[in-house]
Amino acid sequence: MNPMRPVLIALSQSTRARRLMTHYGPVRKLARRFIAGETLDEAIAVVKGLNQSGIQATLNQLGENVVSPQDVRCAAEEYQRLVQRIAQETLQSSISVKPTHLGLDLGEDFCYSQLRTIVRTAWQFDLTVEVDMEGSAYTQATLNIVHRLLDDYRNVRVALQAYLYRTQEDLKRLIMRGGSVRLCKGAYDEPSTIAWRRKEDVDASYACLMLMMLSEQALQNGFYPALATHDHNLILLAEREAIRRNIAKNQFEFQMLYGVRRDWQRRLARDGYRVRVYVPYGTQWYPYFMRRLAERPANVLFITRALIDG
Ligand SMILES: Cc1cc2nc3c(=O)[nH]c(=O)nc-3n(C[C@H](O)[C@H](O)[C@H](O)COP(=O)(O)OP(=O)(O)OC[C@H]3O[C@@H](n4cnc5c(N)ncnc54)[C@H](O)[C@@H]3O)c2cc1C
Repeated sequence: MNPMRPVLIALSQSTRARRLMTHYGPVRKLARRFIAGETLDEAIAVVKGLNQSGIQATLNQLGENVVSPQDVRCAAEEYQRLVQRIAQETLQSSISVKPTHLGLDLGEDFCYSQLRTIVRTAWQFDLTVEVDMEGSAYTQATLNIVHRLLDDYRNVRVALQAYLYRTQEDLKRLIMRGGSVRLCKGAYDEPSTIAWRRKEDVDASYACLMLMMLSEQALQNGFYPALATHDHNLILLAEREAIRRNIAKNQFEFQMLYGVRRDWQRRLARDGYRVRVYVPYGTQWYPYFMRRLAERPANVLFITRALIDG
């Protein structure tokens, strides 16, 4: 594991570091690599560009761990407007939401009711709502909410993290329901009691879960796999599996983050695969940005250089 990762994840949760970093010009400039902009209009322009290159998007209004009910309601209203805007502009985009942005810290039922309203509006416009997965303290509650939503709506996809030991069981249940999962490696710092910490182990777990998602049984159940990774070994493995088993290119999709591996995003789209890019926007970019730095040791050098040169 990248030794800087726990430090950067801890910094992502520090209010003091947030205050220092977000007011610092060079850091703001660096953040723009991963964030489409601070306004919805900037993000919409990015999505239009992606759509023109045959790439779909999932729009995320940045924000997490919101603890004031009023702020949660504002965030939920913004998501309603976002859904309407995507529909009006006929964009190829889903939306992605973080449960703690919609009040999970204030209780599971409160968060469920906010999400349900958004999912209902999205369903009217034939859009999918993707539920991000946050730290392990929220995993069970997030899945409880998603299963409740799936009782009434099909336009919901949830992210699962390959580094958690529990994910195989969580995935089995969602495959049985014919749901949809975005499989990612996992971006938080979890202890070895519940998660793999070595990269080789996380990669092996990802490969195994990905093959479960692409299995005949899963696809026959109407399950829809979304493979969220920039790891070319895993992408190539998925491509080989799809070719070997004659899985149509519209039966699954690849997902990547805005600002990461654009070459692979374009290559896969050119080869006829469905590709979706996660496009975050808004002023609350600090924790998201720090998690992106934590994912790649070389990113730490960028930030150190920016801090020294700036
Ligand atoms: C669409 C999408 C949605 C996601 N949603 C969630 C979620 O809901 N919950 C969650 O915990 N995590 C989420 N993640 C993050 C994910 O868990 C990983 O932390 C992240 O994708 C890095 O893992 P990787 O699969 O790309 O593989 P890695 O082995 O980490 O990276 C493979 C290669 O990709 C490139 N790369 C990867 N990350 C970066 C980066 N930040 N900057 C520059 N290059 C990079 C590098 O070339 C690297 O060698 C999401 C990721 C994607 C793509």
